[in-house]
Amino acid sequence: MTAKDKRFPLSLSSVVNQKDKASSGTNRHTAMPQTAMRNAAHHMSGVAAAKLAKSQEMHLPQGAVSGSLSPSLLSGPLVSDGVRRAMVARVAQQGVKDATVLAALQAVPRHLFLESGMASQAYVDASLPIGHHQTISQPYIVARMIEIMCNGSKLERVLEIGTGCGYQAAVLSVMVKEVYSIERIKALHELAKSNLRPMRIANIRLHYGDGMLGLPAQAPFDGIILAAAGIEVPQTLLKQLRVGGRLVAPVGGRNQVLQLIERVSTYEWNSSVLEPCHFVPLHSGVI
Ligand code: SAH
Repeated sequence: MTAKDKRFPLSLSSVVNQKDKASSGTNRHTAMPQTAMRNAAHHMSGVAAAKLAKSQEMHLPQGAVSGSLSPSLLSGPLVSDGVRRAMVARVAQQGVKDATVLAALQAVPRHLFLESGMASQAYVDASLPIGHHQTISQPYIVARMIEIMCNGSKLERVLEIGTGCGYQAAVLSVMVKEVYSIERIKALHELAKSNLRPMRIANIRLHYGDGMLGLPAQAPFDGIILAAAGIEVPQTLLKQLRVGGRLVAPVGGRNQVLQLIERVSTYEWNSSVLEPCHFVPLHSGVI
């Protein structure tokens, strides 16, 4: 990381305070739970969650976060640190084990990706509306997909289909060297840009376009994550996976499952089904 990358145009606390202030008004929105696995998180008492968070904190390796996210973003004395730690503990309790993934989740201020009226719900383990009939993904599923894709390795180049508000791209940026993310809705592509800009994350490239076509000019990718569910994974994306690379995607209509596809040779892919999930649909074309 260069000295330039470490510079912050805005102090993070000023951004946090603005959003926190704005969110203190009436909150008319409700959380939209995303997968069948989320309930355990909601049934924990605040004390149990806090205890778990504390024990989790001790298990996170120092310096585990090695991406290009600014250090101030990782360690500032934020109001949201404690609630985020509790959220990370709940995600760990649901089965996410990779400490670097959990540390990345802890590093990214999810409330800064939500509109101010929704920020108070940012650390509920649920998907939440971001406009245009789309959602910010549930933290558990974000962590789970990244854990499966990375499989314990530090990946060089990763493609995300469905940038939305940019949250998962930010989490990925902590874990991998280069993140490419495509969004088909222009307004959300712009939203992600404005959410990510003040964070000065140097290793994310946002693209406006149809993610079903992938990014041939940047391929092959070590990993591909789809944040929207198609009836099947587009062939084009499978071909943009490096041999040895892993693609994780929700697949299906009303009943969706998380699918892992590994490219084992030039002409061979292995597929396995992991768990039920619920995502917004994958659509072709741009709007
Ligand atoms: N990654 C986001 C999740 C956004 S929801 C997060 O961090 O929370 C899924 C997104 O996929 C939506 O914004 C939707 O517009 C987008 N999407 C659906 N089909 C797409 C396609 N073919 N190409 C690119 N984006 C697509």
